Amino acid sequence: MITMEDIVRDGHPVLRQKAEEVSLPPSEEDKQTLLSMLDYIKNSQDPDIAEKYGLRPGIGLAAPQINVSKRMFALHLEDGSNRTYSFALFNPRIVSHSVEKAYLTSGEGCLSVDENIPGYVVRYSRVTIKGFDQDAKEVKLRLKGLAAIAAQHEMDHLNGIMFYDHINKKDPFFEPTDAEPLER
Ligand code: ZN
Repeated sequence: MITMEDIVRDGHPVLRQKAEEVSLPPSEEDKQTLLSMLDYIKNSQDPDIAEKYGLRPGIGLAAPQINVSKRMFALHLEDGSNRTYSFALFNPRIVSHSVEKAYLTSGEGCLSVDENIPGYVVRYSRVTIKGFDQDAKEVKLRLKGLAAIAAQHEMDHLNGIMFYDHINKKDPFFEPTDAEPLER
């Protein structure tokens, strides 16, 4: 199982690389990696398991964060409207997005960043993502709210981008007029 010891931290060069496409159908190793990433997220949200293994809770994990420079990520979360999202994808891509933007009023965090970096991260309110599941079946997901934000955070990891790259350097809490604040 993946633990915090497997998660590379900010400053590791793999976090700044553009990750490679996964060749499909996936190898057994890639499939196991994808599933273990989803397991980490689920385990990290289980208070007993998280405490036992010292897992920091998260809602998403991208392969570069475990030093695997391949295009895959996992998300597992329940948003403020009690919608549950739980999926893991090979070669995800954003095929369309809203004009509207949104940001979390609490800012964002990252399992690869140990400290809290305050500030608003403005992203698209809604995204449609296409990718391939563990069995290499193509899936299309329409995401909004927290799930849309989290998916864009994970997509960024596949392109070597960190969430704080998006924070306004002069005024981290600058409130954009064209973006909707979201409570987690
Ligand atoms: Zn992250």
